[in-house]
Amino acid sequence: MSRIAVHRIPVLQDNYSYLIEDTQEKTCVVVDPAEAGPVNAAIEQLGLKPVMLWNTHHHADHIDGNPGVLDRAGSIPVYGSAGDRGRIPQLTHFLQAGDGLEFGGDMVRVLEVPGHTRSHVAYYLPSGHLFSGDLLFGYSCGKVFEGSMEDMYRSVAQVAQLPDETLIYCGHEYTLNNRCFAETVEPDNPDHKTRAASETAPPTVPLQLGQEKKTNPFLRWHVPAVQAFTGKTEPAEVFGELRRRKDNF
Ligand SMILES: [Zn+2]
Repeated sequence: MSRIAVHRIPVLQDNYSYLIEDTQEKTCVVVDPAEAGPVNAAIEQLGLKPVMLWNTHHHADHIDGNPGVLDRAGSIPVYGSAGDRGRIPQLTHFLQAGDGLEFGGDMVRVLEVPGHTRSHVAYYLPSGHLFSGDLLFGYSCGKVFEGSMEDMYRSVAQVAQLPDETLIYCGHEYTLNNRCFAETVEPDNPDHKTRAASETAPPTVPLQLGQEKKTNPFLRWHVPAVQAFTGKTEPAEVFGELRRRKDNF
């Protein structure tokens, strides 16, 4: 029986920060505090003791609340990608692929998922939770700012290997805005109708990996209709062409 409960905290315009609660110990991990105010308020309201802070990548809308959270929580360890050394000033622990952390009875697995930024980590809890920053969004994926399309393809493909039931806690509520592009790529995909009927208003997060695999074109490079839309067949090329077209959509 998992001891984990996840609390989603809306911050800024459309960002999410998260608290991962160990319901037995009443401790929590703070994930990507974009701003400290709402995160500290949630910690207080839930009566939790923060014991770790996890960042996924160095963008301001994922780390700007670090100092304010640490002011209240004291000197708890701050984890992030080894590649973000110097880019996230508060980091105390520098992670690489395969590193393990323990929280709430889960052996957390660190995945390196570069592409959106050249260093970006995701945190996978085998009880079925993935904290993925700006890697994946509903119907889409993060923009490729610092890495290559090939990097981003490999990162997304890595996450696609996780169990279908995995819940994806991403950094933004973009799902409904992304739907139109996905439907344009695959107008005849019947799973689009089913999903649109059941998902009519935010919040749509956590996403479910199995549902994304049915409707998110960035996880469907192997599907003939998606290949036909892009005019490519090689997976990384299908992926890259989708990303370029979405950027101009
Ligand atoms: Zn970002």
